[in-house]
Amino acid sequence: MKQASKIIAGNWKMNKTREQAHDFFKALGEKHLRDNHRVIICPPFTAIAIAREYADNMGFTVGAQDFYMPVKNGAMTGEISTEMLMEIGVKTVLVGHSERRAHSNETDQLISQKVKHAIEVGLMPILCIGETLEEREGGKMKQVLRDQLVSALHYPHDKFIIAYEPVWAIGTGKTADAKTIDEAHKFIKSVIGEDVAVLYGGSVNEKNAQEILGIKSVDGVLVGGASLDADKFSAIINA
Ligand code: PEP
Repeated sequence: MKQASKIIAGNWKMNKTREQAHDFFKALGEKHLRDNHRVIICPPFTAIAIAREYADNMGFTVGAQDFYMPVKNGAMTGEISTEMLMEIGVKTVLVGHSERRAHSNETDQLISQKVKHAIEVGLMPILCIGETLEEREGGKMKQVLRDQLVSALHYPHDKFIIAYEPVWAIGTGKTADAKTIDEAHKFIKSVIGEDVAVLYGGSVNEKNAQEILGIKSVDGVLVGGASLDADKFSAIINA
């Protein structure tokens, strides 16, 4: 039986020089990859052009990890705009990743502006949401997810993707179990809509991908660490 198509997204974070990106895509190109999944790769800004060189032939989409808001251009030293990203072929962008919420003080208000702007200019935002361990243990998980989902509440469901990434599972090796993931995804869909694509992220690797992708409420995965290695990432695509 043919498995339904899922989204496999890779977030390289602040990793890989241009040369290392070339090596990754050459190695990935040598693998046999199933072609019914939608693969998205989000390299650092400096490696986006390299990813674009391979994207069409290899059938993946290039995303960015962030952009600047609230203004579209101007005196914002060190920042990058959606116009600049789209000019070099970026189609999708992560918004509200927990690392940006924590280290760059991104608030739900700013994240809402970013989601709105991305949709308006035709970029597909991947809105990252998720509770900390403290919030989960304090019984606040649903409230936190509900508050974070407000950013995407009023847009057509095919214009954005949600990534459920419990903060305690990101980069920690502690993956949420299938029941926990399913409960959270069902809750997200109950708030925002059954037809919204919801990815799971948090220590997904080549060993647990098959089980996670097999959960019906999971429309794909957002992979950090394991997306840096062509062997591991290809195993996830083929899981
Ligand atoms: C992420 O950064 O979005 C992520 C899920 O990271 P990791 O897979 O390394 O936990």
